[in-house]
Amino acid sequence: MKRLIIGNLKMHLLSPIERDRYLDTLEKELKGKKFPNAEVVICPPFVHLEAFKKRLGKKIHPVKSPTSRGAQQSNRVKLGAQNVFSENKGSFTGEVSPMMLKNLGCEYVILGHSERRKYFSETDEEVNRKSLGCLKNGLKPIICIGETGIEREMGETHKIITRQVKEALKNVSRTKAEELVLAYEPVWAVGSDNVPESNETLSAKLLIKKIITGMFGKKYAEKVRIIYGGSVSVKSTKETCVDPEMDGALIGRDSLVPYEFIKIVEIINN
Ligand code: PEP
Repeated sequence: MKRLIIGNLKMHLLSPIERDRYLDTLEKELKGKKFPNAEVVICPPFVHLEAFKKRLGKKIHPVKSPTSRGAQQSNRVKLGAQNVFSENKGSFTGEVSPMMLKNLGCEYVILGHSERRKYFSETDEEVNRKSLGCLKNGLKPIICIGETGIEREMGETHKIITRQVKEALKNVSRTKAEELVLAYEPVWAVGSDNVPESNETLSAKLLIKKIITGMFGKKYAEKVRIIYGGSVSVKSTKETCVDPEMDGALIGRDSLVPYEFIKIVEIINN
């Protein structure tokens, strides 16, 4: 299984000039590099999705089947979004639908990020509806789960992870396992400079595996990718992603610096 490395650009790149500068630097960093063991995804703000698609052109996965050999070989950077609504069409002012994202060339969507849960009161139920909406439209949900600092102090990490995973995957068919990504993102590690010890991350990964095995059965559960997110940097990649044998990483701040981001990709790829 290839390692999945996702850059979450959040609400940055405020103008077309900033966006193009970012893309220039990213292309420069990608030049001549190959990541045979990694699948790289960038999630820009909605307003930049089309420009990213055009600019990275063939390197971004079009609406082809993920199993298509050509697509796997020729595309180094795929496109993802940071959020989506659950419904495809209708009077939902201000929302963006799964089909819209699919038609723009997106392959992935981040769901239930801790910033959405915190600032926009996103619930497990909504994350579940959005996950189902994505899967129905051929988009791969990257479902973020993880405990807050207080929950960790109270020894509730496993309880929180269990609830979030079970709720997010309610009514999801096990045949979709291959399209699912669960991102273990301890909330206290996101946007800070603190990271969990490798054995803490490994324990979260094993718990997530156990829950999905209970839901889907072993054969299908093996296909779900479990990645880590929260202050991943060049310095912390080994401890947070490599040692606990995560299936990849979700990167916030350091994905805004293409040099750092690609260095992390290289570490995980090797
Ligand atoms: C994130 O926002 O998903 C994230 C992991 O951020 P950071 O890498 O900045 O902690």
